[in-house]
Amino acid sequence: MAFSKMVKPETTELLPLEVLRTERLAPHWMRVTLGGGEISKFRPMGYDQWFRLFIPVTGDAGLERVPAKAHKLFGYLKFLRIPDGERPVMRNYSVREYRPATGDHGAEIDVDFVLHGSAADGTAGPASRWAETCRQGDRVLIIDEGLTFNPERGVDRVVLVGDETALPAIASICASLPEAASGMAIIEAPSEDDILEFAHPEGISVEWIVRPHAVDPGSLALTALRDAALPNAPFHAYAAGEQALASGVRKQLVTDRGVDKNTVSFCGYWKIGAASPTSKAARDLAAEPLA
Ligand SMILES: Cc1cc2nc3c(=O)[nH]c(=O)nc-3n(C[C@H](O)[C@H](O)[C@H](O)COP(=O)(O)OP(=O)(O)OC[C@H]3O[C@@H](n4cnc5c(N)ncnc54)[C@H](O)[C@@H]3O)c2cc1C
Repeated sequence: MAFSKMVKPETTELLPLEVLRTERLAPHWMRVTLGGGEISKFRPMGYDQWFRLFIPVTGDAGLERVPAKAHKLFGYLKFLRIPDGERPVMRNYSVREYRPATGDHGAEIDVDFVLHGSAADGTAGPASRWAETCRQGDRVLIIDEGLTFNPERGVDRVVLVGDETALPAIASICASLPEAASGMAIIEAPSEDDILEFAHPEGISVEWIVRPHAVDPGSLALTALRDAALPNAPFHAYAAGEQALASGVRKQLVTDRGVDKNTVSFCGYWKIGAASPTSKAARDLAAEPLA
């Protein structure tokens, strides 16, 4: 994962949460709403706030063994000492929307998972498979990681580029920006039905690109950006999604179009052909067809 300068969260405690409900939003989208547990300790920051998600592989016992600071080097080494078969899967996800507690219920976090591969035939990654199959009451842990989107104070003109994995972050950035914000967003979707419209300031134009199956994720968004007229400076750019898209946008803007590198936040969310770090057991489990 390549990150630019980040905004740290207020707390990096391990927070136990549970699945409140799920909703199939589109062929490649599952919304998992998390809450309960220690949700009251979660501090929403808006924008592209993201977190480490720990998913149990066989029962909840593994979750009890996840050490504090499992996202930092020493904690991660301890995390790796949890035996294969028990060690939860750790993945990275964005807060699509946070809703505060009301008189009737506690706070809630919507997490929108891209479903890639299929849980039914064993081709999904473990997080995608979990999202497709999790049930109300299933437990997870999260560690808040804060923001990657980090513009200069007062800059609310934006260039947002991503594949589908960046849609939750881009939608949340748009919800967090002031109504007067302007600029453009370029977003790839894996099919017409996977275009999830979202609220955004009127001054931000949104270009959707439906990607044919055989085309590498991210490549069409990169070309669309190359063909696009950029807004007048100053603006802040944000690029996220497949590694080559995130680094490609940064290179295109900074090297080819002379944009100041400090005004580009970028994050490689995933890499074609490479799983996020995971345990062998989790990989084996993901490869096993569902009963
Ligand atoms: C800061 C941050 C925020 C993120 N936010 C979100 C989010 O809100 N929603 C979201 O869906 N993802 C998000 N991601 C991306 C997500 O973490 C990765 O897609 C992750 O690899 C999925 O884990 P997995 O267990 O399903 O697959 P893995 O086990 O990691 O990968 C298994 C195989 O699937 C491939 N793969 C992984 N992801 C995809 C994909 N999306 N499409 C096609 N093939 C894929 C890999 O290349 C690999 O070959 C975010 C990543 C980061 C770093």
